[in-house]
Parts: sequence; structure tokens; C-alpha cells
Amino acid sequence: MDSFEELTNQLNEMSDDNKREKIEELAVDCVCPICPTFNECAKEAGQNIFCLRGKNDCIEKEKGCMCPTCPFAAKFKIGVIYNFYCMRGLEIEQRKL
Ligand code: SF4
Ligand code: SF4
Repeated sequence: MDSFEELTNQLNEMSDDNKREKIEELAVDCVCPICPTFNECAKEAGQNIFCLRGKNDCIEKEKGCMCPTCPFAAKFKIGVIYNFYCMRGLEIEQRKL
């Protein structure tokens, strides 16, 4: 099991409130808000860190993905093989496809 799978398991064992709080803490490193694919709708909804939150209804067109440049992705060694999480779904889901 790698560090991202460990993180996912830890999050899944938390209460909904604690999980939400932890994901918000982790989202400070997310570069989605400066990505060309990110849009006003997602911004207004306060959405980001789609590798952990999954697909986003606001985002409808892939215009490039900045996940490979993300500090959170670098720390957990994700974002290169799988990315475009806002359109394609969670890292964990994409690994199973
Ligand atoms: S998941 Fe990738 S494509 Fe989607 S907003 Fe974040 S950086 Fe951009
Ligand atoms: S890997 Fe992508 S979705 Fe995950 S935190 Fe980084 S920029 Fe956001």
C-alpha cells in the first residue's frame, strides 16, 4: 500500500466532519484553482482537491491539467499517471479502471 492509499484509508475511517476538515487542510497545496480547466462555477462552489473529492459537475471540458505540478501530488506521488480528477474521478477510482 502506498502513502496515498494509506491517506485514503485514514480519511475513510474519519467522521464526515473530520474528513471534510482534513481534506480542507490538505487542499491548501492544491493547484486546481490556477488550472485552465478550473472554472468560475467550481470556484464559486469552493471546490478543489478533486483527487480526493472526485468528479466535479461544474467542470465540463478538459483544457490541461496542472496536477503534475502540484505539491500535494508530489508528496503523495500521484498526478502523473492519473490526473484530470475533476473530469475523470478519484485517483483511487482511476487506478481500478
Ligand atoms: S484536477 Fe487537474 S484538470 Fe482538474 S482542475 Fe485540478 S489541475 Fe485542473
Ligand atoms: S493532485 Fe490535482 S486535484 Fe489533487 S490536490 Fe493536486 S492539483 Fe488538486
